[in-house]
Amino acid sequence: MAINIETHYHDVLVIGAGLAGSMAALKVAPVADVAVLTKVFPTRSHSTTAQGGMAAALNNNKSKGEDSWELHMFDTVKGSDYLGDQDAIETLTKDAIEVVYELEHMGTPFSRTPEGKIAQRPFGGHSRPRIAYAADRTGHVALHTLYEQSLKEKVNYYSEFFVTKLIIEDNTAKGAVAVDLRTGTIHVFSSKAVMIATGGGGRIYKVTSNAHESTGDGLSLVYREGLPLMDLEFTQFHPTGIYPLGILITEGVRGEGGYLVNSKGERFMEKYAPDMKDLAPRDITSRAIYTEINEGRGVGPNKDHVLLQIHHIGREKILERLPEIYKFAITYAGVDCTKEPIPVAPTMHYFMGGIPTNAHSNVIRDEKGTPVAGLYAGGEAACESVHGANRLGANSLVDTTVFGRRAGKHMYDFVQQVGRPVLPKDIAESTVKMLEWLLSGSGKENVSKLREDMQQLLWDTCPGFRDEKAMQKGLKEIKVLQERYKNVGISDRGRNFNMQLKDAIELGNMLEYAEVVLASADFRKESRGAHSRTDYPKRDDTKFLKHTLAFKGKDGTPVMRQKEVSITRYQPQERKY
Ligand SMILES: Cc1cc2nc3c(=O)[nH]c(=O)nc-3n(C[C@H](O)[C@H](O)[C@H](O)COP(=O)(O)OP(=O)(O)OC[C@H]3O[C@@H](n4cnc5c(N)ncnc54)[C@H](O)[C@@H]3O)c2cc1C
Repeated sequence: MAINIETHYHDVLVIGAGLAGSMAALKVAPVADVAVLTKVFPTRSHSTTAQGGMAAALNNNKSKGEDSWELHMFDTVKGSDYLGDQDAIETLTKDAIEVVYELEHMGTPFSRTPEGKIAQRPFGGHSRPRIAYAADRTGHVALHTLYEQSLKEKVNYYSEFFVTKLIIEDNTAKGAVAVDLRTGTIHVFSSKAVMIATGGGGRIYKVTSNAHESTGDGLSLVYREGLPLMDLEFTQFHPTGIYPLGILITEGVRGEGGYLVNSKGERFMEKYAPDMKDLAPRDITSRAIYTEINEGRGVGPNKDHVLLQIHHIGREKILERLPEIYKFAITYAGVDCTKEPIPVAPTMHYFMGGIPTNAHSNVIRDEKGTPVAGLYAGGEAACESVHGANRLGANSLVDTTVFGRRAGKHMYDFVQQVGRPVLPKDIAESTVKMLEWLLSGSGKENVSKLREDMQQLLWDTCPGFRDEKAMQKGLKEIKVLQERYKNVGISDRGRNFNMQLKDAIELGNMLEYAEVVLASADFRKESRGAHSRTDYPKRDDTKFLKHTLAFKGKDGTPVMRQKEVSITRYQPQERKY
């Protein structure tokens, strides 16, 4: 089977066109020829769906007193259940202020206060109303702004290019191999620096708020190169996915005054978080919903969800501040939220863990923090770590842009100091073999069926509340699914826009890191943040105030190690809200 291979050179290769990738590309573009590879059209990246906003201590809303980056830092450290690295969180909360103004100056149309300042709303776990937003379309407008700006800077985009392999040799990043989905041809890119900004991996779960493309490809690409993945056990379940689909209803709804009720009409969050109530962090709110359901106070025929009420704030305010949510509720739940509550249940939303990096977004290869030359990661695919065991809402959009910007700035200097790489021979071979196998093989396993089995397995064996028995079952069965994958087959043999081919490659990636999620969750024998173990219900700072590093072992099974947490200002305390 003849497959065309084309070669390209760019100084910098950014994989992913979401907020992290776009910001990095923009920052390095003045001194480098930059290419962004993305498997969907740039502005269709998942960042575009972000609704509620981005957290920064701009101090424009003083209804709860003065704000400062220190307060934002403390809230984030506490929210992370003390697992976030405090030096990185300090950087995040300081830079967040600059980044929001920078986005504003580039043209992002933020919502305004009556005096014309950037408006700020409350969000879960934040002690001050510090969320800058553009109605409930914040990600959409920020991404469009960065995309426009990067076109002005002459960034090259390769849309519908699916990266299948990273080129790393002698601890140095040298490029990547990709398949052009439009034609089925293979492309080898060499570059001085490579940045991974491939987003999250929520699609391994049955119910998720994540886009179809959130299949964690970057995680598997890195893991296959012998590099570690950090803290993948921390999977965030957002409290309010539209029941039963899991499509997100932003925390902004509760920020604007919405609240949760059970079948008895009780505002149950008052019991679980007497101070913050419905604006408690996500781990606490999701657990509260599960507890209400488990104790028989869920709503609906199966008593398996709760209600989110917002109509009491009035139709006019809902249509002004939450126009998308109003439409989502009608489309996906058949509910007019200006008149009646929305049925909701927790939905898999975010990966706190990812590819470990240092303060310059440079990927590290071990617990000592040894960097891989020229390899960067940012956004949801990366783990600096600022979110630790639980991310606060609105801290991801700032994470993507703050650390995307830092990656861009570091690459700006780096590419001016190093020469063009020489690529190893036959580097495209593994991709050629994979395409031959999928396009001319005779496998019988159906991709959709196998994907469904994986999603159900993760949902059943590694949900919000976990225990050893379920996770051991998950670990055993994921191996069975990986074996079945070897016999996967697709019926479309065409080269142009072969979506079955894309689905099959994504499934291979998901089966790879899904095992790491299970193994890391099994390894962490304590409860912390989003990781709640019924068999180890307490936080154990003696053994587990540490990051989990998972490496791919010789037989393919993850090998676990630990990395120290950076604690600079705030000693661990009990978390109360
Ligand atoms: C519905 C929803 C609402 C959210 N709302 C908020 C919010 O209000 N505030 C907040 O702070 N956070 C929010 N989040 C989280 C936040 O939006 C994401 O974590 C963040 O946008 C991720 O950005 P990113 O740049 O890392 O990646 P993404 O925006 O996910 O982009 C990933 C990019 O990688 C590319 N890619 C992936 N794999 C490959 C491959 N193999 N080859 C080539 N390209 C590839 C994709 O094409 C895409 O361009 C929300 C998330 C969701 C799902």
